[in-house]
This record gives sequence, C-alpha cells and structure tokens, in this order.
Amino acid sequence: MQKSFMEEKPTLFVVSTPIGNLGDMTYRAVEILKKVDIILAEDTRTSGTLLNHYQIKKQMISYHEFNKNDKESVVISLLEEQKNIALISDAGTPGINDPGYEIIKKVIELGYHVVSIPGASAILAAIVSSGLIIQPFTFLGFLPRKQVEMKRVLETYLKRKETLVIYESPLRISKTLATLFKVLGDRKVVLARELTKKFETIIRTTLENAIEMEHNPKGEYVIIIEGDYHIQTVFDESIVDHVKKLVDMGLNEKDAMKKVSIERHISKSEVYQAYKIDNKIT
Ligand code: SAM
Repeated sequence: MQKSFMEEKPTLFVVSTPIGNLGDMTYRAVEILKKVDIILAEDTRTSGTLLNHYQIKKQMISYHEFNKNDKESVVISLLEEQKNIALISDAGTPGINDPGYEIIKKVIELGYHVVSIPGASAILAAIVSSGLIIQPFTFLGFLPRKQVEMKRVLETYLKRKETLVIYESPLRISKTLATLFKVLGDRKVVLARELTKKFETIIRTTLENAIEMEHNPKGEYVIIIEGDYHIQTVFDESIVDHVKKLVDMGLNEKDAMKKVSIERHISKSEVYQAYKIDNKIT
C-alpha cells in the first residue's frame, strides 16, 4: 500500500480555509487539521472560530507577519521532533498575500515535505466570475500605496495583454481605480466584493465608469482588469473621422464619441478633445 506523506517524514501542510463562507472548507482540509500535531495560525482567535465550527481540537501557535522570523526555529524544532504541522491564515490560501512563503521555503530547504491542501482563494473566485479573459492572467496582489510607486508598477503592465488581478482594501478602492484609469486608460474592469458572502457583489464595467461610481467602503475587493489585448488593432482613420463615420451612419455626436472611445479603448474625453479641436468647438 502506498505510504501517506505523514508516515514517510514530517510534513508542513499548507491548508486553504474559506474566504468568507464557512461551507467552503474542504473535507480534506478538515481531515488534515484533525490529524496534524500542531496548527500554525495567522490569528489564533479568528482560526479558533473555524476550528470550533468543525470540531477540530488542536493546539495552535500564532504565526504572522510580525513574528514569522522568531517562529522559524520553533517550526524547525517541531519537524525535528517528527511532528506534522498545518499552516493556515485568516482566510483563503496561506502565502497568497498572507504569511507562508518564508517558512515554506525554509522547510523545503531542510528536506521536509511541503504539501498543499487546496481550497478557497479570492484570486480564482474573482477571475472565473469576471467574464474577462482568464488565460493568461497576472496576479499583482496589493499595489504599493504611494501613488508614484503604484504608477511605476502599473506602467510596466501598460502594453501587456494579460488580465490583471489586484487585491485592494475598501478604503483605497476609489483612489486606486482613479490611478488605474490614469495609467492604463479606459478598459473593462470587474470589481468583485465580498465573494462567497451574503452581500457578494460583482460590478462589471469600465474604468472610466467605475471612477464615477460610489464604492462601498466596507468589505473586501478584488479588481480584475482587462489586458491590452487590442494592442494589435490599427485604425486606418483618425479619431475624428471615426466619429464622423458613425454620425453619418445615424448616431448622434454624443453616442458616436462614446462608441469610438469603447472601440478604440481610449477615454471619452480624449475623443471629445480631438473632435472639439477639429470642429473648433470652444
Ligand atoms: N490569502 C487570501 C487569499 O487566498 O485570497 C488573501 C489574503 S489578503 C490579506 C486579503 C485580500 O484578499 C483582501 O483585501 C481582498 O483584496 C482579497 N479578499 C479576501 N477575501 C475576499 C472576499 N471574500 N471577497 C473579495 N476579496 C477578498
């Protein structure tokens, strides 16, 4: 019979937990948390609620951003004592914008097993329900808070075709959307809020429209942005001729300008400026 990892050598299990809906815990996650000797938890109080719900009675050690260096030797000693360990975070998959990377790397270096117990993560939940192109996508996590640095990061993705997935706090969502629009221009955007929870909301719109909306300052957001996959589109005609052609086809000027901005993936004000200058509108 095939031996399980636990019988072979000590293992660090990286266990995903729900991102809001307790029902998203997997059978295997419960089974592993019941079997291991100890659980490393980002916040033992938060995880206590989850463990109670699934009647998992297990010793927890706190392992978070601010004590992870100090806790490394504790984890190594446990593995040396042949203990099996599970790592969980407050929500979702450990290591994904959560503590985990450093200890996972160390445990691999020391030759112990690292086994993933997959489950919820906001990245995948958001991108598959966005309706935007899924492959390829790039996950950027949280963008830098400082405007200048945020812009610098975004500029490197300006001409790239892949869909971008960004985590953001509700308090900064409006500012971040404004910067996204400034740097990337008008594109489709999807705001996935409170995924898997009672007030889950998915807004599918464009960056230009998104910056005009009021956004709920509570809850958790994933922003998904369309890549620049229209980069190959070459328009033979100028912006102004494009508008005029649509007007000749029967659209009024306002609708024609809006359609041009969508078709060319540029902002409405850029179209308006070009049209205004050409028609000497003041
Ligand atoms: N490890 C987690 C994962 O696997 O998704 C991510 C942890 S990170 C500290 C928290 C961020 O993830 C939030 O600010 C938000 O951007 C996103 N997030 C987590 N849960 C979410 C949810 N239920 N709905 C929308 N976004 C969520």
